Amino acid sequence: MSYTSLVGSWYKTSTWASTYQGVINPEMDSNEIEIPAEVMERQLIPPHTKRPSGRPREMRIPSTVEFGKKKTWQVKVNRCSRCKRTRHNRVRCGNPI
Ligand SMILES: [Zn+2]
Repeated sequence: MSYTSLVGSWYKTSTWASTYQGVINPEMDSNEIEIPAEVMERQLIPPHTKRPSGRPREMRIPSTVEFGKKKTWQVKVNRCSRCKRTRHNRVRCGNPI
């Protein structure tokens, strides 16, 4: 039995080469790329702060005792004094300013 009868034509190198023929474009010279003046004048400045290191804490999961109550653990909403967003405080803040 010939091994070619056991292999599909899509596994052949010639089929693979014909699939990518004409799709891959040659790399352009970077000097030939025209960048608009608006983009060239724009300054991109990184944020003043970085995210703190380490894994961020997940939200607290209420215990079974708190589950039956009227969500007293959600009465006071924490607001961050750093970024002014809710549901975390300054210590846990990971938002860049
Ligand atoms: Zn914050």
